[in-house]
Amino acid sequence: MRSSAPPSRVPDVLIVGGGLVGCACAFHLARAGVQVLLAEASSLNAGASGQTAGSLHFQIERRFLEDDGNGSGEIDRIVSLNRLAIEEWAGLENALSRDLDITMDGGLMLAENEADLALLQQKSAREAAAGLATRLLDAGEARAMLPGLSPTVRGAAFQPHEGHANPRILADAYADAARQLGATIRTGTRLDALSMTEARQYRATLVGPAGVETLVVPQIFVAAGAWTASIVGRLGLQLPLFPVPLSLNVTDKGGPELPYLVQHVGKRLSLKQSEAGNFLIGGGWASRFAFRADGSIDLDTPPLPVAESVSGNLQAAIDVMPALRHRSLVRSWTGITCISADQLPIAGMLPAAPGLFVAAGGSMFTMGPVIARLLAAQIMGRAEEADPIAPFTPARFAHLNAFAVLP
Ligand SMILES: Cc1cc2nc3c(=O)[nH]c(=O)nc-3n(C[C@H](O)[C@H](O)[C@H](O)COP(=O)(O)OP(=O)(O)OC[C@H]3O[C@@H](n4cnc5c(N)ncnc54)[C@H](O)[C@@H]3O)c2cc1C
Repeated sequence: MRSSAPPSRVPDVLIVGGGLVGCACAFHLARAGVQVLLAEASSLNAGASGQTAGSLHFQIERRFLEDDGNGSGEIDRIVSLNRLAIEEWAGLENALSRDLDITMDGGLMLAENEADLALLQQKSAREAAAGLATRLLDAGEARAMLPGLSPTVRGAAFQPHEGHANPRILADAYADAARQLGATIRTGTRLDALSMTEARQYRATLVGPAGVETLVVPQIFVAAGAWTASIVGRLGLQLPLFPVPLSLNVTDKGGPELPYLVQHVGKRLSLKQSEAGNFLIGGGWASRFAFRADGSIDLDTPPLPVAESVSGNLQAAIDVMPALRHRSLVRSWTGITCISADQLPIAGMLPAAPGLFVAAGGSMFTMGPVIARLLAAQIMGRAEEADPIAPFTPARFAHLNAFAVLP
């Protein structure tokens, strides 16, 4: 590989990672006149953003309801962000002047037993208190909305804005818009080395088709999804983000008709129908990591499918919509997302590394567009005083870097 000369113009911000979050942030920065260079190791959308189920889920997930007893206010913070995400998605096709296959016709979260019904009630009350519209439906009302539901369904919560979008086009749409506004986007270009200079800037070595290039930038946004912690780790800093291998299934086209996103309060299930008529069935079922020869997890190789996950996931879908047993499985695939130590997104600047930003963890397809916009404001020093992503700051894990030695 040959070495190449430094680029003619040093960017104000280097973004590492060309998934939904990196591309969206590049768009918002470029729109404000910031010089952006985005480096993507593979092709745009090669990571979780291209493997995602693409569900827009705004109802509180069960895991947060179960933890709510600790009174930490987590639910209120998530619901506030969900409300902003709804607005963001509603305005996205206008903002990017492009059809993004966004469907926001509502979502049902189902319950099949007394305990689940009680959880739905608790959830709905918490959402109402935090200003998110959800409506509890009894079994009859749920079946009137969705006649294909199984008689085992005892009730549901309906949120009118949930839905789905086409993950295959979103990151590219942001990237195209960012390029038109002057951002430089390089694919096949990996961040290979990262260090902090004496002046507390970032020396980044990029390896790509043009060769090896080292640049020093004042600000860097590591938007590398499951790879984020290992990249930050090159500075000797810790970020409690852990990779999670998941799987998804898609069936052939056909009935029953499903105009809503369907989730289950007590089971791992997300179910929806594409415009073409295929059913996408997921909800957090595991796949199995590939490992390198040295025993470390190989994030660059797709995880292996797990037969029990595929059958368990399909069964969960058939349990609530029995007619799905007549559909055929067309494809299963796997992908890697990441989860933080407290299950909330981590978004903002690392206190130990001024000018270094991250945004990962959690449902970053649903939250990515709004978090990327708010993070771009932080990067530009233009965040609102009551910044909605302030509660998700990496500062809550600053204790992990209390012993870090940086220039
Ligand atoms: C199977 C599955 C289903 C999911 N379903 C949903 C859902 O329905 N709803 C929802 O809200 N969320 C869902 N998620 C989560 C969501 O998809 C992710 O949170 C989101 O896509 C993350 O986007 P990102 O841009 O942060 O990361 P990614 O899309 O993973 O992008 C990171 C990019 O960084 C690049 N990169 C890594 N290292 C380097 C380097 N050294 N140099 C340069 N580039 C690098 C990678 O190549 C990659 O393209 C799902 C995830 C999976 C895997």
